[in-house]
Amino acid sequence: MSKKNVPFEEKIRRFMRSQRMYKPGDRILAGISGGKDSMMLAVVLKYVSTVDDVSVELLHLNFGQKGSKRLEEHVSRFAEELELPLRIWRFEEEWGMSFDELVQRVGGNPCSICSTLLRYYLLWFGKEYDVVATGHNLDDMVSFYLYNTMTGNTRFSSTLRPVVRTSVGPLKVRPFFYVPEERIAEEARSRGIVSFPTGCPSEEEAPTVRIRRYLKELESSVPGARKNLLRFFLSVTPPPQEKELNRCEICGMPTSGRICSVCRMKIKAGVLPRKDAQ
Ligand SMILES: [Zn+2]
Repeated sequence: MSKKNVPFEEKIRRFMRSQRMYKPGDRILAGISGGKDSMMLAVVLKYVSTVDDVSVELLHLNFGQKGSKRLEEHVSRFAEELELPLRIWRFEEEWGMSFDELVQRVGGNPCSICSTLLRYYLLWFGKEYDVVATGHNLDDMVSFYLYNTMTGNTRFSSTLRPVVRTSVGPLKVRPFFYVPEERIAEEARSRGIVSFPTGCPSEEEAPTVRIRRYLKELESSVPGARKNLLRFFLSVTPPPQEKELNRCEICGMPTSGRICSVCRMKIKAGVLPRKDAQ
């Protein structure tokens, strides 16, 4: 098979193997939001599981936002068609309030609260697996690097790699690390995969979303700009340091303090009694 005719799934599988994203017998958990990237990731991982000795499960985190019920149904149907097991976690069932109410109670930026929770729950479920996969693409990665650089938080960039070892055990992998957003959109379209609105009210205005828009413009005047920027960031960013972390005294998840940021949020929101924090 010439390189040109290699199907998308096989190209990504080869990339995953070259990066040692999995080994025989591994169990892989993939986050699925209902957007085209995570749905294409599920398609690719399904293919990988038919060729190599790995098993794949999907995880959908439902934050109860507008339209989340239909989104959940959409994701469920998709998982069924692919014949992949799907786990669903619902914010309101665990927290006993809506996400908006949480934001009101704890204050702060909803985007950063949401991303903290997404990271936490992906790892929370991921600790039972060997590999946790996300559908982040080239545009996402460059926009994260740029955002961290512009806000002076380059220390957060060390984990922006195709493969990193998480503090709870599994590898975190990004099979679409070098794949431009429009390529994934094209592959999704050709398979009739319909992306579903996530119902995120900040989606259009989140800083990284705006950066992604600028990146598209940049790419149209300087072809290859995104890939070259990503290569540059990778070359100047030191890899993550292996540091000893404590276990959260409440949930047992890794934290640099005594209580992790999510349990602290639960205390502040009144979900956990305050005395646990003492
Ligand atoms: Zn905790």
